[in-house]
Amino acid sequence: MSQNPEPIHNFDVVVIGSGAAGLTAATHLAQNRKVLVIAKGALDGGSTRWAQGGIAAVLDEGDSFEKHVEDTIVAGAGLNDRATVEFVVSRAPAAIEELANLGVPFNPGEHFGERWHLTREGGHSHRRIVHVNDATGAAVQEALVKAAQANPNITLRPDLVAVDLITSRNGVRYSGDGHIWGVYALNRATRHVEAFLGRATILATGGAGRAYLFSTAPQGATGDGIAMAWRAGCRVSNMEMMQFHPTCLYNLEVKNFLITEAMRGEGGKLKLPPGVPGGGQRFMDRFDKRGELAPRDIVARAIDHEIKRLGLDYVHLDISHQPPEFIREHFPTIYARLMELGIDITKEPIPIVPAQHYTCGGVIIDLDGRTDLPGLYAAGEVTESGLHGANRLASNSLLECLVFGEASARHIIDHWDELPLPPAIRPWDESRVTDGDEEVIVQHNWKEIRRFMWDYVGIVRTNKRLQRAKHRIDLLAQEVDDYYGNFRVTPDLIELRNLVEVARLIIRSALKRKESRGLHYTLDFPETLPEPVDTVLAP
Ligand SMILES: Cc1cc2nc3c(=O)[nH]c(=O)nc-3n(C[C@H](O)[C@H](O)[C@H](O)COP(=O)(O)OP(=O)(O)OC[C@H]3O[C@@H](n4cnc5c(N)ncnc54)[C@H](O)[C@@H]3O)c2cc1C
Repeated sequence: MSQNPEPIHNFDVVVIGSGAAGLTAATHLAQNRKVLVIAKGALDGGSTRWAQGGIAAVLDEGDSFEKHVEDTIVAGAGLNDRATVEFVVSRAPAAIEELANLGVPFNPGEHFGERWHLTREGGHSHRRIVHVNDATGAAVQEALVKAAQANPNITLRPDLVAVDLITSRNGVRYSGDGHIWGVYALNRATRHVEAFLGRATILATGGAGRAYLFSTAPQGATGDGIAMAWRAGCRVSNMEMMQFHPTCLYNLEVKNFLITEAMRGEGGKLKLPPGVPGGGQRFMDRFDKRGELAPRDIVARAIDHEIKRLGLDYVHLDISHQPPEFIREHFPTIYARLMELGIDITKEPIPIVPAQHYTCGGVIIDLDGRTDLPGLYAAGEVTESGLHGANRLASNSLLECLVFGEASARHIIDHWDELPLPPAIRPWDESRVTDGDEEVIVQHNWKEIRRFMWDYVGIVRTNKRLQRAKHRIDLLAQEVDDYYGNFRVTPDLIELRNLVEVARLIIRSALKRKESRGLHYTLDFPETLPEPVDTVLAP
C-alpha cells in the first residue's frame, strides 16, 4: 500500500461544510484567523444552492420582530425556544445587509421607499422574504464562495470527505477532556485519510434528507455532521421532526425535482392515477374543505394516505385544463424540465410524491453556536438551535445559517486565548484494513434504508411501523459496523455509516414522542400534549 504523503495539517479553525453556514462563519473568522473550509464534493454541492424562495427578515415598516417571532412559534407548534427565535429574528436585518454588501443582488423594491422586493410565504403574517428571483440560494452561495476565494486567510478544499471528528482519544497521549481538535477527512484524489487540526472546529454539514427515498435535498445530505457529533459525544434533539414537501416529481432517475406549491395555487388538481378505484378523480376534498389549497402538511399527509391505502407509487398533479400559454408563462422552468423527461404538462398530469425537504432536528447548540463538546461549534441545518421547533417556518433556514455562522465565529474570536493548542494527534491508521470486496453490500444497504425510512418513518407514523424500522436498522447497523471495521473507507461507505446512525436517531426519537405535534404525526397518539417537550437523545 502507498504511504500517505500528507497525514497532518494545521490551521487555526477547521470548518466542515461550504454552504451558507460554513462560509458565513469562515468569512467572519478570516478577519484574523487562518481558516480551512472543507466540502465533501464541489463547494456548491450542499442545499444552499437549491434554495428557491428566499430569506425572511423584518424590513417593512408595518412589520415587527414580535410578529416574525410569533409566526415562527406558531409554525413550530410551540416547541421552539423563544430566546433563540428572538435572537435570530432580531439579527436578520443585519444578516441581509451583510449579504447585500457581499454582492447578493436581491430583487429591488417596486414601490417608493421599498429597498428590496419582499414576498410573502405560507405561515408569514407579513411580506418579509427577500429573494433573488426564484434562485436565492444560488446567488447567496456564489457571493459567499467569491468572498472566501478572495480572502488569503481562507483555504478552500473541496473533495475532502470528513470521516470523524478528532477527539482527545486520538491524541498521542490520552486526555479525557472531550475536546475536539479538528477532523479526519478522506482525500478523494489520493484515497488517503488526512488529519486537519484546529483550536476550534465548526460543523456546517447540512441536513439528513437522503435518509429518505425521496428528498428535495442534494445527494450529499446524509447527516454526516449529526452522526459525527453523536459519535464524538454530543446530544441531539428533535430528530423526528422531518419536514416533507407535498409535491416532488416521481421519477426513479430524478429524485429531487420540486413542483412548486404555486401550481396548486394556479388551479392544479391532485388526482388518483388511472387503474385504481376512483382513478382519474380528485381526492383532496375528502381530507380538507380547502381541497388542494389546504396547508402543506395536510396535503402531504393526504397524498401519503392515498399512496399507502392503494399501494401506489405516486398520485397525479394535473394542471392540463389551463390554457397552454398560461402554463408555459407561469411555470417556464417546470415546463421545460418535464418536457426533457417526456412529460408535456399542457396535455398530461405529473406523477408526484411528497418528499423529505428539511431536517428540523440536529446537534444541540447554544446561542454562541457551542455544542456539548469543548472546541466544537455547529451552525445551519445540522443543528437544533431551538429556532424551528416542531416545524420550520418557510425561509427561516438560510437565516439560521447566517446568524449562527456569525455567532460561532464571534465566540471563537472573543475567546481565542481560552482555546488551547491541539496536542500531538495520531495520524489515521490504515494498516489493518483492506479494500472492500463487495460494493453491492454498500449499495444494497443504502437503498434498503432509504426505502424503509420512506415506508415506515415517513409522514404518517404508527408504533408498529416504527418498531419494524427499528428492528431493521439495528440489524443493518451491525452489518455496516462489521464492514466498516474491516475495509478501507470510501465516500459511499462513509455516507452509509452516517445514514445508519442518523436513521437510528430519527426512529428512536419518533418512538419517544407520545403525541402528534408539528411534523410528527402518529396514528397511535393523535393528540397534542399540553406541554411541548424536546426529544433529547444523549450518547
Ligand atoms: C430545494 C430546496 C429549496 C429550499 N428553499 C429554501 C428557501 O427558499 N429558503 C430557506 O431559508 N431555505 C430553503 N431551503 C433550505 C436551505 O437551503 C438549507 O437549510 C440551507 O441551505 C442549509 O445550509 P447549510 O450551510 O447548513 O448546509 P448546506 O448548504 O447543505 O451545505 C453543507 C455543506 O457540508 C458539506 N459536507 C457535508 N458532509 C460532509 C462531509 N462528510 N465532509 C465534508 N463536507 C461535508 C457539503 O459538501 C456542503 O458543503 C431549501 C432547501 C432545498 C433542498
